Amino acid sequence: MFQSSISVEATLAEREMGDGHEIVPYTKSFIHITGYLMAWRLALAAITYASDANQHQYSAYLRQSNLLQRLLLSLFKLMPQTPVVNEVKLEQGGDDKLPLTMFNTPLHISPLANTTSQLLAHQACKVYYECVSRIPAAVRQWFISLDRHFQPVVDGFTTTYVSPLLINQEMSAINNSSTKFDNMTMNTMLSHRNTPLLQSLVFWKQNVDQKFEGIEECFICYYVLHGTNHQLPKLLCRTCKKKFHSACLYKWFSSSNNSTCPLCRSLF
Ligand SMILES: [Zn+2]
Ligand SMILES: [Zn+2]
Repeated sequence: MFQSSISVEATLAEREMGDGHEIVPYTKSFIHITGYLMAWRLALAAITYASDANQHQYSAYLRQSNLLQRLLLSLFKLMPQTPVVNEVKLEQGGDDKLPLTMFNTPLHISPLANTTSQLLAHQACKVYYECVSRIPAAVRQWFISLDRHFQPVVDGFTTTYVSPLLINQEMSAINNSSTKFDNMTMNTMLSHRNTPLLQSLVFWKQNVDQKFEGIEECFICYYVLHGTNHQLPKLLCRTCKKKFHSACLYKWFSSSNNSTCPLCRSLF
């Protein structure tokens, strides 16, 4: 990887950021850069699937060796300023709301495919996306270290083309994984609470912590802590033995016009 970065950097030395000069397919430099970018995709996948301890070592190595910084600089020389894909391939995707770019369209690398000079740019976009999504802290560190002329370029490009995809990906990951927490799905909480995201997250964490301590949640709102008064479910149904927040239960009484347990319907 180290040798490879040196030769890729030599090839790209004369290029400016996003100057759009294309490297002719099947030339030595073209093949070399393709191999280099493929190797990085493998390395990034390996880091993601490694154990926690190994992940830590990998990222420490990336930091010390300066390899990631060099990769990111090369990527910004390879990616076009406007990575929009012209030919619209409807069946192959992209999100409905987002324009088709090299970030959200599939990349085909095959010895049989008709290789265009766009391939390297497309590949570079994919590698950049994987860096941002798989090792975000390392990329952020690199970003902070940039000089003030280059920083806005990286910021603008990333915000326009990468962030919307990343946000979609992360939110759907949260929604899918939160099914593990039974009825306390992140999605329900985010769409029902009128508080800033951070506050909601803190509230959600409190709920998770309480849940793991073995306290049963309220069987009306499915939270351990009540959403507004932060009380625990204290009212116990003598028949089904389920607990409810007093606020939730009184709301139920008044909306149902009688005072029966919402679960077993016995008189409270
Ligand atoms: Zn409740
Ligand atoms: Zn009951």
